[in-house]
Amino acid sequence: MPSDPPALSRLQPVLPSPLQPAEDERFARHGVRLLLKRDDLIHPDLPGNKWRKLSPNLAAAAGRTVLTFGGAYSNHLRATAAAGQLLGFPTVGVVRGDELAGRPLNPSLAQCAADGMRLRFVDRATYRAKADPAVLAGLLSDCGECVVVPEGGSNALAAQGCTALGRELHGRADVIAVACGTGGTLAGLAAGLAPGQRALGIPVLRGGFLGDAVRELQREAFGGPTGAWSLDERFAFGGYARTTPELHAFADDFEDRHGLPVERLYVAKLLYGLMTLAQEGSFAPGTTVAAVVTGQPWGAPDSSR
Ligand SMILES: *Cc1c(COP(=O)(O)O)cnc(C)c1O
Repeated sequence: MPSDPPALSRLQPVLPSPLQPAEDERFARHGVRLLLKRDDLIHPDLPGNKWRKLSPNLAAAAGRTVLTFGGAYSNHLRATAAAGQLLGFPTVGVVRGDELAGRPLNPSLAQCAADGMRLRFVDRATYRAKADPAVLAGLLSDCGECVVVPEGGSNALAAQGCTALGRELHGRADVIAVACGTGGTLAGLAAGLAPGQRALGIPVLRGGFLGDAVRELQREAFGGPTGAWSLDERFAFGGYARTTPELHAFADDFEDRHGLPVERLYVAKLLYGLMTLAQEGSFAPGTTVAAVVTGQPWGAPDSSR
C-alpha cells in the first residue's frame, strides 16, 4: 500500500534561491554584468535542479517506490536516495555497469545505499535499452508497485518544475545560462522566462542530441516549443566527466575570486563558456547574464555530504 504523499515542504527548501552579483572584470570589461543564481543552496541533499526536477515527480509518486537510473557517480541517484530517506519512501537505483556488482561501492553509490536505495547493476546494453517495454518490465519485475523516473530525472513533470527557476528571474537578467546534461532544466527554465529574456544551454556531453531532447521535453511538458533558448556546444571539454587542467585552473581561480565552490562536471564548464562568450563579444554591452549554479562539488567540506 502506498503511504501518504510525501510532504516535500517538510524538507524546507530555500526558495526562491538567492541571486548574487559577481564582480568580475573579465565580464565587466565587455559591459556584461554577471549574476549567480544559487540553486545549489536550495537543499543540502537535493541541490539545485535536482530539487526542482524531483519535487513534482515525488509528489506524483505519492509515497510509492521510486525506481530511477544513473551512472556510478550520478547526482540524480544520490538526490533520489536522499529524498527517499528523508521522506520515508523506498527507492531503487538501476546503475549502468554490471562490472560494479560485487565490488566495494564507490562513495557516491555508498551514500545511495546508506540512504536505503536498493541498487541494481545492469550491463551497458540493458541500460541503453531501458526505455524498451520488455527491458523495463524485467527491471520492474521485483519492484512491486513502482513509479519510474527517467535517467537524470528529466520528464514532463521535471520540466514543469523547472519553470519556477525562470519565473524567479523575471526582470532580473537578460540571458540565463545553465549547464545541460539531459536538458530538462533548460526546457523548463526557457518556458518560465518572460518575453525578452532568453535561456542559453551549455551541454556537458558530446553528441549533439540535446536540441532534440529539449524540444521533445517541451512538447511533452508544454505541448510545443516554448520560450527563447539556444545551445552552445563548444564547452563539453571532451564529454561527460571529462575535464582538462585548464578547466580546473579556471575553476580554482573562480573559487578564489568569488568564494563560490565550483562543481567541475557542470558548473565549471558553464562558467568557462560564459567567460569565453563575453570575451568574444557575444553579449551586447549592458547585458545582464545570470549563471545558474546547479550544484556544489560533491564531498567537498562545504557540502553537507
Ligand atoms: C543533473 C545536473 C545538471 C543537468 O541537468 P539536466 O536537467 O539533466 O540538463 C546540471 N548541473 C548539475 C550540478 C547537475 O547535477
